[in-house]
Amino acid sequence: MTARRKFIKQASLLGGLLLSPFHTHHKKHIQKNVQKTTGTETRPIVISTWKHGLPANEAAWKILGEGGAALDAVEQGVRVIEADPDNGSVGIGGRPDRDGIVTLDACIMDQNYRCGAVACLTDIVHPITVARYVMERTPHVLLVGEGALQFALENGMKKTNLLTKKSEQEWRKWLKHSQYQPVINIENHDTIGMLALDASGHLSGSCTTSGMAYKLHGRVGDSPIIGAGLYVDNEVGAACATGMGEEVIRIAGSAIVVELMRQGKHPEEACRIAVERIISRNKDVSHLQVGFLALNKHGEYGGYSIHKGFNYAVQTLDSAKMVDARAAQ
Ligand code: ASP
Repeated sequence: MTARRKFIKQASLLGGLLLSPFHTHHKKHIQKNVQKTTGTETRPIVISTWKHGLPANEAAWKILGEGGAALDAVEQGVRVIEADPDNGSVGIGGRPDRDGIVTLDACIMDQNYRCGAVACLTDIVHPITVARYVMERTPHVLLVGEGALQFALENGMKKTNLLTKKSEQEWRKWLKHSQYQPVINIENHDTIGMLALDASGHLSGSCTTSGMAYKLHGRVGDSPIIGAGLYVDNEVGAACATGMGEEVIRIAGSAIVVELMRQGKHPEEACRIAVERIISRNKDVSHLQVGFLALNKHGEYGGYSIHKGFNYAVQTLDSAKMVDARAAQ
């Protein structure tokens, strides 16, 4: 057995512990259809932020594993999380703003520098799909608020009440003790950002969130801002962000990470430098969390955050796993 085959076998054994029955069942089929790791290249591959990344990656893999497009994978992957009412930071069930209104932000970008986004969207479970419609069906990049809702409805999406009982109860509890000010803390941040490299070598990314819990009505974070919450450059790599959106916007975070990769930095190193830039711009980061995640054209990936606790999910043919990102503090 060659060293490479041995490595793959070991990785498969390890990965097998974490793979769902779907993956084990389909693995042989997938192997026949999809180009595999060649030299240092790994593709297809999908990575996404936080633990909800595991089921999201699994949905994305159903497309990537069959040789499908990264763009479809990153849309379908995050839709699973948007539809989960128990997830308090994305889609239905997302925490509302200070006025009790759930407003959602999302964006998507493909291998041809095409992108679409929605911000401050209400009543629609799948902002990522609306973002894709903006990209594909309009000459624009970003639609907001009422206009975004009108566009979603015109494109066949249904109105749904996004405020679940649970998040309403939590919000009412927050109202009793909190001032009308956004609370900045690590637990309130949980955007899903997803980056994928498909079997054809194309990159795409998506990002979707209900944003900072109990934010001012109308507040928009980094997640729907191309270059901040997400950026994809098919020549180089892709990056996304999670955490305190204002800080990510201030340094054009994801665009910076991609530019650092263009200069030859490994994805983790690129994320680290972006994080350090945020740290250097702030006197006190003790209550500030930001994490970046990046994937390059070769399928190499990495993440980095200000504080420990940021993790991300990685799915390849051989494994589905969680990785703890390194952190500055
Ligand atoms: N980045 C998102 C925002 O600022 C929140 C998060 O990632 O938790 O809206």
